[in-house]
Order: sequence, then structure tokens, then C-alpha cells
Amino acid sequence: MGEEWINDFRRERARSGIFLDFDGTISEVAPMPTGARLHPRARKLLYRLATLHPICIVSGRRVRDLVERVGLPHTHYVGVHGLEWWEEGREVPDPEVLPHLPALERARRELKEKIEGHDGILLEDKSLTLTIHFRMNPGVGGEMVELARDLATRHGLKVVGGRMAVELRPPVEVDKGTVVARLCAGWGLKRALYAGDDYTDVDAFRGLRRLMRDGGFQGVAVAVRSEETPLDLEAVADVVVDGVEGLLGLLEKILEP
Ligand SMILES: [Mg+2]
Repeated sequence: MGEEWINDFRRERARSGIFLDFDGTISEVAPMPTGARLHPRARKLLYRLATLHPICIVSGRRVRDLVERVGLPHTHYVGVHGLEWWEEGREVPDPEVLPHLPALERARRELKEKIEGHDGILLEDKSLTLTIHFRMNPGVGGEMVELARDLATRHGLKVVGGRMAVELRPPVEVDKGTVVARLCAGWGLKRALYAGDDYTDVDAFRGLRRLMRDGGFQGVAVAVRSEETPLDLEAVADVVVDGVEGLLGLLEKILEP
């Protein structure tokens, strides 16, 4: 892909959206999820971009956590892969999720029992999803994925893979792609960029593709490459950048007058 699209973004800023993942995209991946911080250069850059473009941060984190870490004005926030939205200063769950909360509670109880005594396993309970992180003990990754699959089958939930993590979530058709599609349509955008570094970001790329198939829409899928970036993410991207710094370089070009 050439760089002509950058000129299109500069020409019609208000109709050109910027959607960004958080971890590994505008924040360096930290050994523990609690350590991740918005890159200082990203803070300055996004502050300026948000006065010109519609901007949304779409993450797997809880939306309140995202707002606290990013905290920029004129920016929209969506958490838990589209299950939780930030509206008028508070978190709002997607209504489709509500019927599945009892099943999630049963799975939560069972999961806590089963992972007790495992070293280097961190259970991240986001209320609407349960994520098992095994970055500190990659050797049990296979076992954890099996455990998640078994719980999902028995409790009627869904499994999503991540980087050194596996997640249980309600079986609703909500993902980063439906978020991108919903906001692009709602905001009347003509084009949008989405940048991410992980499996769940492929959903967002698909959301852009769906809008393009409907016609009259320009989507730019940006893969942020790191040592752990899944190869299939790069394969389906329009643009590949090197790490957080590489993405910030690209966003600076969009900001240039
Ligand atoms: Mg990420």
C-alpha cells in the first residue's frame, strides 16, 4: 500500500477516524498488565490528533482502566473487546451480555478452584470476561487453553486466544470489528485506520473490510510488529510498522499539515 491514503486523512480529518488498540500499540507491553503506561510521545500526539480526527481506543482491558491509563479528552473508549463502553463518565455493558452473566459466574467459581496452586498464573477478572495470563509460566499454556475450552463447552461460553493468555467470554457476536463498524457508521466516517498488535485486532481489520465491501469506505489496517506479533496479523494488514515507535511515526505523518 502506498502513502496516498495519508493525504486523504489530512484532507478530510473530521471524516477520517483513528482506532487504536492500547497494549503493544500505544503502550509498550509490560511484564504484568498493571505496569502498562501510555507512551509519553503517544500522549502528546494523540492530544493533538483528537482535536482533528474522531479517535477511539479499543482494548481488551476494562474501560475504566483504559480511561485511567489514557485519560485524554475528545477521545472515545471501548473496553473488554467491545463488551464495555464508556458513556457519560461511566462504564456501560453491551446489553447482549446480560443474559450470560449467571453462566459466567459458574465458570468463574470453577476456574478459581482449578488454577489454585498453579505458579505464575494470573486470573484477570474483568467481570464480563475471565482472562488467564500465563506469561510468567509459558510452560502451562497448553494446559490452560485446554481448561478454558472445557469450561467454555460446559457453561456455554466462548474462548478467545491472546498473547500468552486465553480468555473466556459470553457467546455474543461483539468484537473489535463490530465496534469499528458501529462507530464508523454512527459517525458517518469515509475512512478509518485501525492499529493493533494481537489476535483480537484481526477482528477489527475484518470490520474495516466489511465496511469496504459495502462500498464508499476506505480502511487502513495497521499491524504493529513486535517479537510476539502473530504472523497472520501481518499477513492481513495493509501496513506493517515496527513497534510502538513505528506506529507513532506513522501517526505523526498523518498530523503533519
Ligand atoms: Mg495489543
